[in-house]
Amino acid sequence: MIIKKSKIAIIGCGLVGSSTAFCLVTQGVCDEILMIDINQEKAYGEVLDLRDTIKYLDRNVKVKSGTYEDCGDADIIIITAGAPPKPGQTRLDTLEISAKITESIVGPVMKSGFDGIFLVVSNPVDMIAHFVYQKSGLPKQQVIGSGTALDTARLQNLIAELVDVDPRSVYAYSMGEHGDSLMVPWSSVTIAGKSFYDVIADNKELVGDVDLDELVIKTAREGWEIYQRKGTTYYGIASACAGICKTILYDENKIIPVSTLLEGEYGESDVFAGVPVILNRHGAADVLEIHMTEDELVRFKASVKIIREATAKILI
Ligand code: NAD
Repeated sequence: MIIKKSKIAIIGCGLVGSSTAFCLVTQGVCDEILMIDINQEKAYGEVLDLRDTIKYLDRNVKVKSGTYEDCGDADIIIITAGAPPKPGQTRLDTLEISAKITESIVGPVMKSGFDGIFLVVSNPVDMIAHFVYQKSGLPKQQVIGSGTALDTARLQNLIAELVDVDPRSVYAYSMGEHGDSLMVPWSSVTIAGKSFYDVIADNKELVGDVDLDELVIKTAREGWEIYQRKGTTYYGIASACAGICKTILYDENKIIPVSTLLEGEYGESDVFAGVPVILNRHGAADVLEIHMTEDELVRFKASVKIIREATAKILI
């Protein structure tokens, strides 16, 4: 008998790809990691550096570099190859170049016999995830974009800071586009079960007058705050990717907001958008439809419209 190894391939060994690999190795999420980059020397350099961590870790995760032919038996492939926005560009400005890069990846990966789960991180992530779904021909459950997973962490941090609790006790979602148009369904935000509205009302001395629209803008702009100071962002998304992979490989049914193909949920179809999703070994197993007020639904649909229009530029 042979027990199958869990294997994650990372395509694109830049800052996001290598940080994600580091998270996966240090957390011992899988048995094997395959690093692939158009710059093969860079991929191998990352492998050597990552191998040097093993001695002081709890688990010997095998890290290798390779080619698309080695992807056939991967459980998850994380696509982080891309062209991050240059100064003055938005994520949407990288759409065409990102689609081109992605196209050069998906064909050869599918030729390898890959039948696992794509986790797309390259921006603009909702559109590129849809592109991967179309190009790969895989079932929708098997193509996931990291979507608003990172923006949700940012939102929870901002709320936590405001009311002085651990961000993990904040139940809140950023939804829609991973980009400037994201929205927050405030009516379902709770601090460990207590409505955020009630928390604000009961703690006026602590939180003062909270401008919720301002908090949404801050959440969406957080990436740029980091970008302006250090040129790019990678730890947050790397941690989100490791969390998503863990949930999938460990078959946890954990709910994480990721980008998935909507088929009638929230009144939207044929578009990838960030919504809470039940993740397990099948990938994006089901969408959780949380209650939204009329105003929240209008905001969600406005964000989805932006995704839909941009996606149309790259789909056949
Ligand atoms: P980076 O420039 O550091 O790395 C990109 C890597 O992709 C490079 O190593 C490059 O050689 C490789 N690459 C380019 N073309 C390739 C190809 N055709 N095949 C294989 N590899 C190729 O960039 P980064 O900072 O790691 O960002 C990567 C992507 O992740 C960008 O699209 C960025 O916008 C995105 N990103 C997404 C999120 C999110 O929340 N979804 C967060 C941060 C960054």
